[in-house]
Amino acid sequence: MARRKIVAGNWKMNMTPSEAVELVKTLAPLVESDDVDVVYGVPAIDIVPVVEAVKGSKVAVAAENMYFEDKGAYTGEIAPAMLVDAGVKYVILGHSERRDYFKETSEDINKKVLKAFEYGLTPIMCCGESLEQREQGITMDWIRQQVKVGFQNVTADQAKTAVIAYEPIWAIGTGKTATSEQAEEVCKGIRECIAEIYDEATAEAIRIQYGGSVNAGNAAELFAMPDIDGGLVGGASLKADFGKIVNYK
Ligand code: PEP
Repeated sequence: MARRKIVAGNWKMNMTPSEAVELVKTLAPLVESDDVDVVYGVPAIDIVPVVEAVKGSKVAVAAENMYFEDKGAYTGEIAPAMLVDAGVKYVILGHSERRDYFKETSEDINKKVLKAFEYGLTPIMCCGESLEQREQGITMDWIRQQVKVGFQNVTADQAKTAVIAYEPIWAIGTGKTATSEQAEEVCKGIRECIAEIYDEATAEAIRIQYGGSVNAGNAAELFAMPDIDGGLVGGASLKADFGKIVNYK
């Protein structure tokens, strides 16, 4: 069965709650699609108003992060049950900005991935290499390690429903997109890694996005690649262009 494409916006630390509601209204007629799953990844404070604003549409909401404990004395963190209760369906985990600025390790991310599944949230687990790693020729070794650790103790049935976002760090927010061949090569490698950890059926089912300066002009070529099942979109998700990315065909 063909995998359904999934296009998710990552708003990062942008949009106040009122700006968020305005953006949802602007995008509403532009992101309608029968064959693409559309997700808005929004800052924690925007979750409640955005869930309300997308009601009645097919758009789902993602959190941009989540803690791996159920509840308790973790000042400033957001618990999985809070996201579920607020109507969140997906959670972006292990974005390179979280790995880099907030020192999240693949082990931390694995705990979050497991916790997300426990609560019925779909993780969008990010991975990606730095420019230095690419130049050293260790891209695939690094990504395989991120995926293997990130998916430790995740069952095949859970993995089948997960989303992995391949985001080369050198392409995020830089305007420098990976070529469709570069992106496909790594996404295919990730699928092979999933087949090794689990089996072919799991590898065929899991959805793998490309992220890194996706825009209205390059989405069609990237999403046409056999192992790229959509995109995780930063900058362009805050503009009307997001509608063109969703309706890339
Ligand atoms: C991202 O934040 O995940 C991302 C890919 O950003 P951009 O599209 O702006 O490169």
